[in-house]
Amino acid sequence: MMLSIAQNLDEQDILAPLREQFYIPANTIYLDGNSLGPLPVAAKERAIDVVNQQWGDDLITSWNKHAWIDLPRQCGELIAPVIGAAPGQVICCDSISVNLFKVLSGALRMQAGRNKVLTTADNFPTDIYVIEGLKQQLGEANCELVLCEESDIEAQLDESIAILLLTQVNFRSGRLLDMQRITELAHARGILVVWDLAHSAGALPVKLDDCKVDFAVGCTYKYLNGGPGAPAFIYVAERHQSAFQQPLSGWMGHATPFSFDSAYTPVAGVKQNLSGTPAVIAMSVLEAALKLWSNVDMLQVRQKSMAMGEFFLECLKACGLDEDFTCVSPDAATERGSQLAFQHEHAYAICQAWIDAGVIADFRAPDLLRIGFTPLYISFEELWLAAEKLQKIVSEQTYLAPKYQQKLAVT
Ligand SMILES: *Cc1c(COP(=O)(O)O)cnc(C)c1O
Repeated sequence: MMLSIAQNLDEQDILAPLREQFYIPANTIYLDGNSLGPLPVAAKERAIDVVNQQWGDDLITSWNKHAWIDLPRQCGELIAPVIGAAPGQVICCDSISVNLFKVLSGALRMQAGRNKVLTTADNFPTDIYVIEGLKQQLGEANCELVLCEESDIEAQLDESIAILLLTQVNFRSGRLLDMQRITELAHARGILVVWDLAHSAGALPVKLDDCKVDFAVGCTYKYLNGGPGAPAFIYVAERHQSAFQQPLSGWMGHATPFSFDSAYTPVAGVKQNLSGTPAVIAMSVLEAALKLWSNVDMLQVRQKSMAMGEFFLECLKACGLDEDFTCVSPDAATERGSQLAFQHEHAYAICQAWIDAGVIADFRAPDLLRIGFTPLYISFEELWLAAEKLQKIVSEQTYLAPKYQQKLAVT
């Protein structure tokens, strides 16, 4: 019954042909593309070419010959349409953590007379750690960390806040915040807003320009499939680009890096966010992965992602698992990103046993089983098969085996 429903949904799936553009290992159901996207075929080919020909044969001439120097901008422009940004506002570099340091430092300087950076207590830890680090660097008089509950954000917005830093989709619960509404409310109180798009870029339609967002950061190794540790990105709204100055003033953000001036003159525009030499191999692979998005309609991605979440919940019910696993994600698909999280006392061991059975999901401390829905390469049939395997693990208590209790270094 559920199998035929799944197969029916797959037949009607407009995005199904995209799966061919990815390398998905045999006998693997991959529900973890929200942590590390799989390998696009084009990225693999590019990796071989950039190493063999560009680095191997063409050596240093590749900076010009293969436009290595332009990769941060090229990748930024490929990301821009996916997050609703007009050209000239996105650049690819570093990690989210480093980019947050740049953006928060620069934005604080634009908010003379205000020192508070507001974020949520259950934000991804690195976002909070970076604010802590800035506070130590600048002193509390210049940077004060204020934490609030997700449900209390709007009540906390007042004229004492300099910057509001929010992650659009909560990494644990998958709750989706209302970017348009919150940004507007914050602006009405003179607050600059920074959005972390780690779990939204490539997962759902993002409209940075339409929402008048000030700054955003995001990574490319999750839903954008750029590869492990692929470089991140920064968005600086065009209206802020002349006033904004980031502190890691390196030569790649200089107006004329190859004149080797001893005085620093930032280049105009978002490019000023570059500090050092780009990671050429990683960024080349990323560029190949990003090209895939030019044929993707984000509304279709969102529709399939919501349908997958709903279908998976149905599968759990059909398997009699909905009582064992407590869903901690919002009930309404429209209030979630592209993931579901379930609480279970044995979540870690179950996740390990599931991986052994060919289903890769992930565990988030202390007791969450997190499942990512990635419409470009996952089918409804796979979701049903994954639920059946989960039922077997739970009913046979396979997860109680000692080998599944051992925590690995990366969970
Ligand atoms: C994955 C993730 C990060 C990762 O940050 P890096 O510095 O790129 O490793 C940051 N923020 C959020 C919300 C994330 O989910």
